[in-house]
Amino acid sequence: MITKPLCVQAPAKINLFLHVTGRRPDGFHELVSLMCPVALYDTLTLTPANQDIHVICGHPDVPEDASNLAARAARLFMEAAISESFPSVSGLTIHIDKKIPVGAGLGGGSSDAAAVLTALNCHRARPLSTPALMELAGRLGADVPFFIPGGAALASGIGDRLEPFPHLASWTALLVYPNVAVSTAWVYKNLNLRLTKDEKKLSNFHFDGRFFNIDKHLVNDLEAVTQTVLPVVGEIKRLLLANGAAGAMMTGSGSTVFGLFTNAERATLSQEALCCSPQSQDWTLFMADLLV
Ligand code: ATP
Repeated sequence: MITKPLCVQAPAKINLFLHVTGRRPDGFHELVSLMCPVALYDTLTLTPANQDIHVICGHPDVPEDASNLAARAARLFMEAAISESFPSVSGLTIHIDKKIPVGAGLGGGSSDAAAVLTALNCHRARPLSTPALMELAGRLGADVPFFIPGGAALASGIGDRLEPFPHLASWTALLVYPNVAVSTAWVYKNLNLRLTKDEKKLSNFHFDGRFFNIDKHLVNDLEAVTQTVLPVVGEIKRLLLANGAAGAMMTGSGSTVFGLFTNAERATLSQEALCCSPQSQDWTLFMADLLV
């Protein structure tokens, strides 16, 4: 598939808002979400191999078999490239240097998959257009297409309808991972949609599709669900707000909580303050600029 090693970076994402608007008969949830990549990266190195696709990661929660999303992406690309009659290939080893916490709402697996699709496509002189690559990505998971074009986007449907959102300010995020993974499937299963709707009426959420306002729009319908099993989410939010964040919220289904800061200096001060608190000994903190 490739002749020399390729090295690519896969960014994490945060959800600046996430509203679950309904559940489809097939079980998928419909949502509206503003998603933004952030500068915290996994690094993937793709090297040619004799046959088959192998993953080396070394993270206890990341599978190294064919179920790894990066491996599935490589397989899918190979099949698509073959059906488009491009010269095919033997094998691939994917080494993942995992920096994005797993099961943290930061989309690491999805981003790894998108990075593999993009890297292989670039390597082969872009046989697939961006829409074609996004269509392939959608077969791997609802969040994968978001990572293909890069930049912030407004997602709707089951997360598969994406509109670029170029209107965000360049905030710095302080990400706090409480070192506990959360199952996205469990969170959605335990989401009470009726409660969400009532809360939504109260929160009076109005988004005009252009101006993101931290005070009005930083809302995540999944946060209350995750907090029932992880009260630490609320604790981290309070600490971030007490230490200068302009806003703080859980990303995706959790468990990471982010604070937003107008610049890196303010985020650094907050990080230093949080590191002094006794609770933070159990957490991992990352500072990451929004990739707007
Ligand atoms: P999601 O909402 O998609 O579950 P997340 O950010 O909460 O996203 P991920 O870190 O993407 O969670 O991991 C979700 C699951 O995917 C984990 O259980 C993990 O074992 C599996 N997985 C498969 N491939 C990968 C990969 N390349 N990197 C991380 N996790 C992977």
